[in-house]
Amino acid sequence: MPLCIRIEGRVAKPVIVCDHCGEEISARQGNYQWRVTSQGEPLDQVVFYTHKRCCRAFEANNRGDHRWCANDLDCLPLYLANNLGVDTESAKQKAEMIASFG
Ligand SMILES: [Zn+2]
Repeated sequence: MPLCIRIEGRVAKPVIVCDHCGEEISARQGNYQWRVTSQGEPLDQVVFYTHKRCCRAFEANNRGDHRWCANDLDCLPLYLANNLGVDTESAKQKAEMIASFG
């Protein structure tokens, strides 16, 4: 369950956890990964998250009739915001308002 909620005081904080070691990942330390067939087609729609230091070990422990693809985790929020049609300024204001309720 790599996308999790951690409770800090009264704040519910969404975090991403490494599928290999189980520790929280900061954006610059991580990858998101997915499996593709030998023809390069997505094997399924599952996304995995790993620290860059855990990437090779995770792939070695999860070998199969597929290849692994990976991209930098810090790019993922931008891709998701674009694909979800997020109005970033409006979302930022909303998040700040919710955080102010503390
Ligand atoms: Zn890890």
